[in-house]
Amino acid sequence: MDSAIQQNPAVVELDTRARDAATSAERTAILTAKKSLLKKLRREGLESYRSEWLTERRKAKILSRGSISPYTGREPNPLNELIPEKGRLAACMAGNSDLALQELQGAMRDMLYLLTEDWTVLYRPGDKPDHGRCAVCGEELSRLDINPALA
Ligand SMILES: [Zn+2]
Repeated sequence: MDSAIQQNPAVVELDTRARDAATSAERTAILTAKKSLLKKLRREGLESYRSEWLTERRKAKILSRGSISPYTGREPNPLNELIPEKGRLAACMAGNSDLALQELQGAMRDMLYLLTEDWTVLYRPGDKPDHGRCAVCGEELSRLDINPALA
């Protein structure tokens, strides 16, 4: 899909304009515009793929006289993206085939992680404190002011 997007006339035009930009500030602005255009085109591409897929699925269901199970339309759990261990495990459990030893070991590791991790606070990937220090600035978290109302 990406190579088709790169050939989109609007994208090509932005490329040309970025190449011919008079100043670096102008060039940066054009590249920023290109970035958001690419994002928009990718999103539109995914949406049309999804609706095509659903249409095909409905046709197949009718042709097979209902012998394939209906698509429930349920989105995957958004936490699967935030917690890759959970996403991998969910994919494993949804699959029909036997797991290779390596996959099984990976699934065990993921499960162990999910069971032993402290889930009282959910950090975004990369935001989790590292040995009591802020992952971003390295500040020791015990030094941060404690809200007196909570102390
Ligand atoms: Zn910090």
